[in-house]
Amino acid sequence: MRWLELKAELLAIGSCRLTGVDASGYIESSAAGPGAGGAGSVFFSKGGKRVRLSVSPDSPLEIRHDGDGKVHLRSGGMEATGILEEPALHCPHQAYITVSGRCIFSCKYCPVPLNEGRVKTPEEIAKMIEFVRDRIDAISITSGVVGSIEDEERRVIEVLKRIDRQDIPIGVSIYPTSHTPDHLYSEGVSEVKFNLEAATPALFREMCPGLSWDGIIRSLERSVALFGRGKVFSNVILGLGETDEEMEVCIRLLTERGVIPVIRPLTPAAAVASYRRPPAERLLRIADLHYDALKKAGLDTTKAETMCTYCTGCDIVPGRDYE
Ligand code: SF4
Repeated sequence: MRWLELKAELLAIGSCRLTGVDASGYIESSAAGPGAGGAGSVFFSKGGKRVRLSVSPDSPLEIRHDGDGKVHLRSGGMEATGILEEPALHCPHQAYITVSGRCIFSCKYCPVPLNEGRVKTPEEIAKMIEFVRDRIDAISITSGVVGSIEDEERRVIEVLKRIDRQDIPIGVSIYPTSHTPDHLYSEGVSEVKFNLEAATPALFREMCPGLSWDGIIRSLERSVALFGRGKVFSNVILGLGETDEEMEVCIRLLTERGVIPVIRPLTPAAAVASYRRPPAERLLRIADLHYDALKKAGLDTTKAETMCTYCTGCDIVPGRDYE
Protein backbone atom coordinates (compact mmCIF):
# COMPACT_ATOMS: atom_id res chain seq x y z
CA MET A 1 0.00 0.00 0.00
CA ARG A 2 1.39 3.44 -0.92
CA TRP A 3 2.02 5.89 1.93
CA LEU A 4 -0.78 8.20 0.78
CA GLU A 5 -3.42 5.46 0.91
CA LEU A 6 -2.04 4.09 4.18
CA LYS A 7 -2.14 7.54 5.78
CA ALA A 8 -5.71 8.15 4.59
CA GLU A 9 -6.79 4.82 6.13
CA LEU A 10 -5.00 5.64 9.38
CA LEU A 11 -6.44 9.17 9.57
CA ALA A 12 -9.91 7.73 8.96
CA ILE A 13 -9.43 5.46 12.00
CA GLY A 14 -7.64 8.17 13.97
CA SER A 15 -6.64 6.00 16.92
CA CYS A 16 -4.56 2.97 17.81
CA ARG A 17 -4.27 0.34 20.53
CA LEU A 18 -0.72 -0.14 21.78
CA THR A 19 0.46 -3.68 22.51
CA GLY A 20 3.85 -5.33 23.02
CA VAL A 21 6.76 -3.66 24.79
CA ASP A 22 5.90 -0.63 26.94
CA ALA A 23 5.70 2.41 24.60
CA SER A 24 4.93 5.07 27.21
CA GLY A 25 8.11 7.01 26.30
CA TYR A 26 6.62 7.64 22.86
CA ILE A 27 3.22 8.89 24.03
CA GLU A 28 2.50 12.62 23.92
CA SER A 29 -0.28 14.07 26.07
CA SER A 30 -1.29 17.40 24.68
CA ALA A 31 -3.46 20.40 25.54
CA ALA A 32 -4.08 21.26 21.89
CA GLY A 33 -4.82 19.65 18.55
CA PRO A 34 -7.13 16.72 17.84
CA GLY A 35 -7.58 14.52 20.91
CA ALA A 36 -6.63 17.33 23.32
CA GLY A 37 -7.07 16.22 26.89
CA GLY A 38 -7.37 12.50 25.97
CA ALA A 39 -5.12 9.50 26.71
CA GLY A 40 -2.36 10.87 24.50
CA SER A 41 -1.09 10.20 20.99
CA VAL A 42 1.75 8.52 19.18
CA PHE A 43 3.48 9.43 15.94
CA PHE A 44 3.81 6.47 13.56
CA SER A 45 6.43 7.05 10.92
CA LYS A 46 7.43 5.18 7.78
CA GLY A 47 10.03 6.26 5.24
CA GLY A 48 10.30 9.71 6.85
CA LYS A 49 6.54 10.41 6.68
CA ARG A 50 4.34 10.52 9.74
CA VAL A 51 0.84 10.28 11.10
CA ARG A 52 -0.46 11.03 14.56
CA LEU A 53 -2.86 8.56 16.20
CA SER A 54 -4.70 8.93 19.50
CA VAL A 55 -4.15 6.12 21.94
CA SER A 56 -7.33 4.22 22.76
CA PRO A 57 -7.74 0.68 24.14
CA ASP A 58 -10.88 0.28 21.96
CA SER A 59 -9.24 1.13 18.63
CA PRO A 60 -9.53 -1.41 15.79
CA LEU A 61 -5.93 -0.55 14.83
CA GLU A 62 -3.21 -2.39 16.73
CA ILE A 63 0.31 -1.03 16.94
CA ARG A 64 2.61 -3.66 18.40
CA HIS A 65 5.78 -2.21 19.86
CA ASP A 66 8.72 -4.59 19.45
CA GLY A 67 11.17 -2.35 21.35
CA ASP A 68 13.40 0.65 20.48
CA GLY A 69 10.47 2.32 18.73
CA LYS A 70 10.11 -0.39 16.08
CA VAL A 71 6.45 -1.22 15.48
CA HIS A 72 4.13 -3.42 13.48
CA LEU A 73 0.75 -1.98 12.63
CA ARG A 74 -2.34 -4.08 11.87
CA SER A 75 -6.02 -3.43 11.24
CA GLY A 76 -8.23 -5.82 9.28
CA GLY A 77 -6.23 -6.70 6.17
CA MET A 78 -3.93 -3.69 6.49
CA GLU A 79 -0.38 -4.24 7.79
CA ALA A 80 2.72 -2.07 7.89
CA THR A 81 5.98 -1.74 9.75
CA GLY A 82 7.54 1.50 10.86
CA ILE A 83 8.74 3.36 13.93
CA LEU A 84 7.28 5.48 16.69
CA GLU A 85 8.86 8.91 16.81
CA GLU A 86 9.69 10.59 20.10
CA PRO A 87 7.85 13.88 20.36
CA ALA A 88 9.72 16.96 21.61
CA LEU A 89 6.85 19.14 22.92
CA HIS A 90 3.49 18.13 21.40
CA CYS A 91 5.01 16.74 18.18
CA PRO A 92 8.36 15.57 16.82
CA HIS A 93 11.06 18.19 16.13
CA GLN A 94 9.07 21.14 17.48
CA ALA A 95 8.36 22.85 20.76
CA TYR A 96 4.69 23.42 20.00
CA ILE A 97 3.31 25.05 23.12
CA THR A 98 -0.19 26.04 24.17
CA VAL A 99 -0.03 29.21 26.26
CA SER A 100 -3.61 29.21 27.61
CA GLY A 101 -5.21 25.81 27.92
CA ARG A 102 -8.71 27.25 28.36
CA CYS A 103 -11.05 29.24 26.15
CA ILE A 104 -13.92 31.70 26.63
CA PHE A 105 -15.47 30.68 23.30
CA SER A 106 -17.32 27.47 22.67
CA CYS A 107 -16.66 26.27 19.14
CA LYS A 108 -18.73 23.15 18.80
CA TYR A 109 -15.97 20.77 17.68
CA CYS A 110 -13.36 21.87 20.22
CA PRO A 111 -12.61 20.09 23.50
CA VAL A 112 -10.43 22.93 24.87
CA PRO A 113 -13.29 24.91 26.57
CA LEU A 114 -14.17 21.71 28.46
CA ASN A 115 -10.63 21.47 29.84
CA GLU A 116 -9.53 23.23 32.98
CA GLY A 117 -6.20 24.00 31.36
CA ARG A 118 -3.70 26.36 32.94
CA VAL A 119 -2.28 29.59 31.61
CA LYS A 120 1.48 29.13 31.33
CA THR A 121 3.80 32.00 32.22
CA PRO A 122 6.47 33.28 29.79
CA GLU A 123 9.10 32.06 32.25
CA GLU A 124 7.68 28.57 32.31
CA ILE A 125 7.48 28.43 28.51
CA ALA A 126 11.07 29.63 28.12
CA LYS A 127 12.19 26.79 30.44
CA MET A 128 10.13 24.22 28.52
CA ILE A 129 11.82 25.28 25.29
CA GLU A 130 15.31 25.15 26.82
CA PHE A 131 14.61 21.60 27.97
CA VAL A 132 14.08 20.35 24.39
CA ARG A 133 16.30 22.86 22.56
CA ASP A 134 18.66 20.21 21.14
CA ARG A 135 15.74 18.24 19.65
CA ILE A 136 13.79 20.95 17.83
CA ASP A 137 13.82 22.70 14.46
CA ALA A 138 10.98 25.11 15.27
CA ILE A 139 9.05 26.84 18.03
CA SER A 140 5.29 27.03 17.54
CA ILE A 141 2.93 28.86 19.84
CA THR A 142 -0.82 28.50 20.09
CA SER A 143 -3.40 29.42 22.69
CA GLY A 144 -7.02 29.31 23.75
CA VAL A 145 -8.58 32.64 24.69
CA VAL A 146 -8.61 33.75 28.33
CA GLY A 147 -10.11 37.14 29.18
CA SER A 148 -10.45 38.58 25.68
CA ILE A 149 -8.89 38.10 22.24
CA GLU A 150 -6.81 41.24 22.86
CA ASP A 151 -5.65 39.94 26.28
CA GLU A 152 -4.58 36.68 24.69
CA GLU A 153 -2.63 38.42 21.96
CA ARG A 154 -0.79 40.46 24.62
CA ARG A 155 -0.04 37.29 26.58
CA VAL A 156 1.42 35.58 23.49
CA ILE A 157 3.52 38.63 22.67
CA GLU A 158 4.97 38.59 26.19
CA VAL A 159 5.94 34.98 25.58
CA LEU A 160 7.61 35.92 22.27
CA LYS A 161 9.58 38.66 23.98
CA ARG A 162 10.76 36.28 26.71
CA ILE A 163 11.89 33.25 24.72
CA ASP A 164 15.42 32.92 23.44
CA ARG A 165 14.96 32.50 19.70
CA GLN A 166 18.52 32.07 18.50
CA ASP A 167 18.13 31.15 14.83
CA ILE A 168 15.01 29.07 15.07
CA PRO A 169 11.81 29.79 13.10
CA ILE A 170 8.76 30.72 15.15
CA GLY A 171 5.17 30.08 14.16
CA VAL A 172 2.12 31.49 15.92
CA SER A 173 -1.49 30.36 15.67
CA ILE A 174 -4.02 32.32 17.72
CA TYR A 175 -7.41 33.85 17.14
CA PRO A 176 -6.49 37.19 15.50
CA THR A 177 -7.63 40.77 16.02
CA SER A 178 -7.25 43.03 12.99
CA HIS A 179 -3.86 44.16 14.39
CA THR A 180 -2.49 40.71 15.18
CA PRO A 181 -0.65 40.15 11.85
CA ASP A 182 1.23 43.46 12.24
CA HIS A 183 2.03 42.82 15.90
CA LEU A 184 3.35 39.31 15.25
CA TYR A 185 5.35 40.50 12.25
CA SER A 186 7.00 43.19 14.40
CA GLU A 187 7.99 40.49 16.88
CA GLY A 188 9.95 38.61 14.21
CA VAL A 189 7.52 35.69 13.86
CA SER A 190 8.25 33.65 10.70
CA GLU A 191 4.86 32.11 9.96
CA VAL A 192 1.28 32.50 11.18
CA LYS A 193 -1.78 30.29 11.14
CA PHE A 194 -5.24 31.76 11.58
CA ASN A 195 -7.85 29.06 11.34
CA LEU A 196 -10.95 29.46 9.22
CA GLU A 197 -12.11 26.16 10.76
CA ALA A 198 -15.32 25.69 8.70
CA ALA A 199 -15.58 25.55 4.90
CA THR A 200 -18.50 27.99 4.56
CA PRO A 201 -19.55 31.18 6.38
CA ALA A 202 -22.86 29.52 7.34
CA LEU A 203 -21.12 26.51 8.91
CA PHE A 204 -18.68 28.84 10.64
CA ARG A 205 -21.55 30.82 12.20
CA GLU A 206 -23.07 27.60 13.44
CA MET A 207 -19.83 26.09 14.73
CA CYS A 208 -18.02 29.14 16.11
CA PRO A 209 -20.57 31.45 17.75
CA GLY A 210 -19.17 34.90 18.54
CA LEU A 211 -16.24 34.66 16.12
CA SER A 212 -15.88 36.33 12.72
CA TRP A 213 -15.22 34.52 9.41
CA ASP A 214 -14.70 37.85 7.59
CA GLY A 215 -12.32 39.02 10.30
CA ILE A 216 -10.19 35.89 9.85
CA ILE A 217 -10.12 36.33 6.07
CA ARG A 218 -8.97 39.95 6.50
CA SER A 219 -6.25 38.87 8.94
CA LEU A 220 -5.08 36.19 6.50
CA GLU A 221 -4.92 38.72 3.64
CA ARG A 222 -2.96 41.18 5.77
CA SER A 223 -0.64 38.36 6.87
CA VAL A 224 0.18 37.38 3.28
CA ALA A 225 1.02 41.04 2.56
CA LEU A 226 3.45 41.04 5.51
CA PHE A 227 4.87 37.51 5.77
CA GLY A 228 4.58 36.52 2.11
CA ARG A 229 2.76 33.88 0.10
CA GLY A 230 3.17 30.40 1.56
CA LYS A 231 4.09 31.73 5.02
CA VAL A 232 0.47 31.93 6.13
CA PHE A 233 -1.71 28.90 6.95
CA SER A 234 -5.29 28.19 7.89
CA ASN A 235 -6.89 25.03 9.26
CA VAL A 236 -10.22 24.01 7.76
CA ILE A 237 -11.97 21.03 9.33
CA LEU A 238 -13.23 18.34 6.94
CA GLY A 239 -16.37 16.62 8.18
CA LEU A 240 -18.50 19.38 9.74
CA GLY A 241 -21.26 18.90 7.13
CA GLU A 242 -19.75 20.68 4.12
CA THR A 243 -19.92 19.14 0.62
CA ASP A 244 -16.82 18.38 -1.44
CA GLU A 245 -17.75 21.32 -3.68
CA GLU A 246 -17.93 23.69 -0.71
CA MET A 247 -14.58 22.44 0.54
CA GLU A 248 -13.06 23.00 -2.89
CA VAL A 249 -14.38 26.58 -3.00
CA CYS A 250 -12.90 27.20 0.46
CA ILE A 251 -9.52 25.70 -0.49
CA ARG A 252 -9.36 27.91 -3.58
CA LEU A 253 -10.47 30.98 -1.63
CA LEU A 254 -7.40 30.45 0.57
CA THR A 255 -4.85 29.43 -2.07
CA GLU A 256 -5.84 32.29 -4.39
CA ARG A 257 -4.91 34.63 -1.52
CA GLY A 258 -1.52 32.94 -1.02
CA VAL A 259 -2.63 31.01 2.10
CA ILE A 260 -1.80 27.31 2.51
CA PRO A 261 -4.88 25.41 3.72
CA VAL A 262 -4.47 22.71 6.36
CA ILE A 263 -7.32 20.28 5.72
CA ARG A 264 -7.94 18.69 9.09
CA PRO A 265 -10.12 15.56 9.29
CA LEU A 266 -12.70 16.00 12.02
CA THR A 267 -12.04 14.32 15.34
CA PRO A 268 -15.58 14.02 16.71
CA ALA A 269 -15.57 15.67 20.15
CA ALA A 270 -17.48 18.15 22.31
CA ALA A 271 -20.84 19.10 20.68
CA VAL A 272 -20.06 17.19 17.48
CA ALA A 273 -19.08 13.96 19.24
CA SER A 274 -21.82 12.11 17.34
CA TYR A 275 -20.40 13.12 13.93
CA ARG A 276 -18.29 10.66 11.96
CA ARG A 277 -14.67 10.94 10.95
CA PRO A 278 -14.35 11.43 7.18
CA PRO A 279 -13.64 8.13 5.38
CA ALA A 280 -10.34 7.46 3.59
CA GLU A 281 -11.88 7.85 0.10
CA ARG A 282 -13.05 11.37 0.93
CA LEU A 283 -9.67 12.32 2.41
CA LEU A 284 -8.02 11.21 -0.84
CA ARG A 285 -10.56 13.04 -3.02
CA ILE A 286 -10.07 16.29 -1.11
CA ALA A 287 -6.28 15.82 -1.08
CA ASP A 288 -6.40 15.77 -4.90
CA LEU A 289 -8.36 19.04 -5.00
CA HIS A 290 -5.97 20.50 -2.43
CA TYR A 291 -2.95 19.40 -4.49
CA ASP A 292 -4.34 21.04 -7.65
CA ALA A 293 -5.20 24.30 -5.88
CA LEU A 294 -1.73 24.57 -4.29
CA LYS A 295 -0.04 23.85 -7.61
CA LYS A 296 -2.16 26.38 -9.48
CA ALA A 297 -1.34 29.04 -6.88
CA GLY A 298 2.39 28.15 -6.83
CA LEU A 299 2.32 27.35 -3.11
CA ASP A 300 4.89 24.87 -1.78
CA THR A 301 4.20 23.05 1.49
CA THR A 302 7.79 21.76 1.66
CA LYS A 303 8.95 25.29 2.49
CA ALA A 304 6.84 25.41 5.69
CA GLU A 305 9.10 25.68 8.74
CA THR A 306 6.69 25.50 11.68
CA MET A 307 3.33 24.29 12.99
CA CYS A 308 1.06 21.72 11.30
CA THR A 309 2.27 21.87 7.70
CA TYR A 310 5.81 21.21 8.95
CA CYS A 311 4.60 18.43 11.27
CA THR A 312 2.06 16.73 8.94
CA GLY A 313 0.86 14.45 11.78
CA CYS A 314 -2.88 15.09 11.58
CA ASP A 315 -3.52 15.84 7.90
CA ILE A 316 -2.65 14.78 4.38
CA VAL A 317 -0.22 17.44 3.19
CA PRO A 318 0.14 17.48 -0.61
CA GLY A 319 3.78 18.16 -1.43
CA ARG A 320 5.00 16.49 1.77
CA ASP A 321 2.98 13.27 1.88
CA TYR A 322 3.15 13.00 -1.91
CA GLU A 323 4.57 15.00 -4.80
S1 SF4 B 1 -0.34 18.37 12.66
FE1 SF4 B 1 -0.52 20.12 14.04
S2 SF4 B 1 -2.05 19.54 15.60
FE2 SF4 B 1 -1.36 17.66 14.55
S3 SF4 B 1 0.30 16.88 15.85
FE3 SF4 B 1 1.23 18.07 14.25
S4 SF4 B 1 1.45 20.13 15.10
FE4 SF4 B 1 -0.03 19.03 16.36
